[in-house]
Amino acid sequence: MEAWLRYYDDLNLGVFYTDRRTMGKRVIKRAAIKAPAVSPEIEPAVAVSVAPPKAAAPVSVLSVVNVPSMFEVIDRIEGDTLERIREDLGECTRCRLHKTRHNIVYGAGNARAELVFVGEGPGNDEDLQGLPFVGRSGKLLTQMIEAMGLTRDQVYICNVVKCRPPENRKPEEDESATCSPYLYRQLDAIAPKAIVCLGLTAAQSLLKTKDPISRFRGEWFDYRNTKLMATYHPAYLLRNPPAKADVWKDLQKVMAHLGLKAKKASH
Ligand code: URA
Repeated sequence: MEAWLRYYDDLNLGVFYTDRRTMGKRVIKRAAIKAPAVSPEIEPAVAVSVAPPKAAAPVSVLSVVNVPSMFEVIDRIEGDTLERIREDLGECTRCRLHKTRHNIVYGAGNARAELVFVGEGPGNDEDLQGLPFVGRSGKLLTQMIEAMGLTRDQVYICNVVKCRPPENRKPEEDESATCSPYLYRQLDAIAPKAIVCLGLTAAQSLLKTKDPISRFRGEWFDYRNTKLMATYHPAYLLRNPPAKADVWKDLQKVMAHLGLKAKKASH
């Protein structure tokens, strides 16, 4: 034993506690822990479970690839606000995307929205204007929102990454991992009744799945006690208009959850 302890000491391996009661005192009380402003290592508390919509509905299982971190229950920052999160983000240089961006696209809409849409990352128009979903995909998203009987001002729209990936490529895993803690905080601060992920990147960030989106779109999941659904990204709908019917079905479920009635077609 002594030899082992010396060996560990030579390796500079830390203190060995013999008295567990002493260790117990060192445990930081959960309430006393102030969640770090932002830590890419801290994963969101994602209890991915399918909320069965109706008794007999089949329950599909999503392949969840992460396990919630030990911080899962403390990473909500009490009293956090969108303004404070934006301040913490600052003129971000945390990942390579800052080198080519023109503007950070933080998010836009109602800070108390019942519905949040989460996209992938800004495109060219968004990068130039500093606003989410203002290009072609954005026009389609606006139509979708209006078809739900809402306006853009009533919802909140943001993205997984806040700087445009060059050539509109998908964000790299490390870029998403660096940026997504801000998204998690935005969602916590808004505390909507429903979150709609637009496309796989957003769904992967919040549900930690590698499954293809076609396998789980339109199903309800629980994201930190908020209902979350993934549907196709508007950019995909521009390339594949027949899929609009699927998205409309998905959005109708969201409307039912929010007690919304579809906008009547004007003649
Ligand atoms: N696509 C996205 O995912 N987000 C935007 O803001 C614009 C296009």
